[in-house]
Amino acid sequence: MHELGVTKSIIEMIERECNAKGIRNPKKAVVEIGALTTYLPDSIMFYYDLLKAETPAVSGMKLELVDVKARIVCQKCKAESIIDDPYFIICPKCKSAKFKITGGKDIVLKEIHGK
Ligand SMILES: [Zn+2]
Repeated sequence: MHELGVTKSIIEMIERECNAKGIRNPKKAVVEIGALTTYLPDSIMFYYDLLKAETPAVSGMKLELVDVKARIVCQKCKAESIIDDPYFIICPKCKSAKFKITGGKDIVLKEIHGK
């Protein structure tokens, strides 16, 4: 259920970006959802469809969500790896649990298109 809050944040992010770029009626936005955020894109879409009806700024906009997998750099063997299971992370090469997360932590507005 925590996707309702994040969906509101995504809409706010889109509204801010539209204001900054002078876009009046956005047609499409592409938003990356990092696997480590644990937000479910399907749930975000569900809430987006509900919220957009009451949010004139995005009422005509298509939201496209892109899943971004977790990415780590191992501090032991230096390998960079993409992780399929964000709930169980170890370096796939050397099995070390010492790593730096380098991707998949964030929600990023990648693109926004006007008319
Ligand atoms: Zn390693």
